Amino acid sequence: MSNNPTVLEIDTSAIKHNLLYFKSKIHETTKLLVVIKAFAYGSDALAIANILEKQNVDYLAVAYTDEGVALRKANITLPILILHPQVDNFETIVDYNLEPNLYNFKTLNYFNEIASVKKLKEYPVHIKINTGMNRLGFKENDIPQLKSELKKMDNLKIVSFYSHLAASEDFSEKNFTKHQIDSFVRITDSLNESLSYIPLKHISNTSGIINYPEAQFDMVRLGIGFYGFGNDKLETSKLKNVCNLKTKISQIQFIKKGETVSYNRKYIANSDSKIGILPLGYADGLNRNLGNKVGSVYVNSEKAHIIGTICMDITIIDLNGIDCKEGDEVIIFNHQDHILEMANKTTTISYEILTSISQRVRRKRV
Ligand SMILES: *Cc1c(COP(=O)(O)O)cnc(C)c1O
Repeated sequence: MSNNPTVLEIDTSAIKHNLLYFKSKIHETTKLLVVIKAFAYGSDALAIANILEKQNVDYLAVAYTDEGVALRKANITLPILILHPQVDNFETIVDYNLEPNLYNFKTLNYFNEIASVKKLKEYPVHIKINTGMNRLGFKENDIPQLKSELKKMDNLKIVSFYSHLAASEDFSEKNFTKHQIDSFVRITDSLNESLSYIPLKHISNTSGIINYPEAQFDMVRLGIGFYGFGNDKLETSKLKNVCNLKTKISQIQFIKKGETVSYNRKYIANSDSKIGILPLGYADGLNRNLGNKVGSVYVNSEKAHIIGTICMDITIIDLNGIDCKEGDEVIIFNHQDHILEMANKTTTISYEILTSISQRVRRKRV
């Protein structure tokens, strides 16, 4: 067990708050899938899945097969959609009772073949439709062939048809999004003609849930919102931050005016200074571009700039004027605003800040 003081705390009450918030946003009959790919957006997929098993959630989704296997090995029993499986994974998918996204004729036919060899009955699968994102999925001109193939899929049960919105957070793309939603409805109506039952339909991610309530259909796929981020300030303010990154001051150094700090002497003290040495670095997921006063952290509620170059395992902060001692707690982030500021300063998005926290950092459910 690592006893490094750097820890990513996962706030269970924030999770419950965010879930309730989104449940209040969706229709009573709409199912809720929570996306826990990439270690649940950098947090802890097993911890999150264990919480979700007791929270009346209908589905989980991960990107890759291995992520689903890890959940099953930890006795997670909720249905798990694998968003991006490979044909090489199909045996494993069946062995672990995971549900593949089938996104082209190759994956569809190959999975059906495995299902018939194994004599599976109504094995649950999901079919992805490409309505404009141009990532995975069948295109509209594949639909006639897909309909005739679906009629032959004796061993499969199509649980859902789904698609993904390319710009649900962007109001200037409203026409494009509405066009995607319309084609999704048209395509799924047509596909339903080839089946004796009607699969679920889902297209909305977090910002789809918020901006296009008419597109909730039978299920929604909640990702970033679950972890505390909406489309804008107002929406985010109604959510709670789930992941809090903290550490402790390892050492305080006093340096003289003119002395330099860290690699390549990028920081030069312009007065006698107090500096703090922290046990986390870029290998823990703190972006190196936040060095040299670009980024900051919080010590005893005061903002402390990161000075000098961020090292692999060490970050140095300016403690001038801050009352503190070695061992005091340092907050890297514990509010959405901190994460958004970091994202802004490193020209990325909250998703990337969260998923960058490396596996070296201890996770702790609080
Ligand atoms: C990651 C992902 C989501 C979740 O998106 P958010 O914007 O985080 O809500 C939903 N659907 C698919 C297919 C995804 O890959």
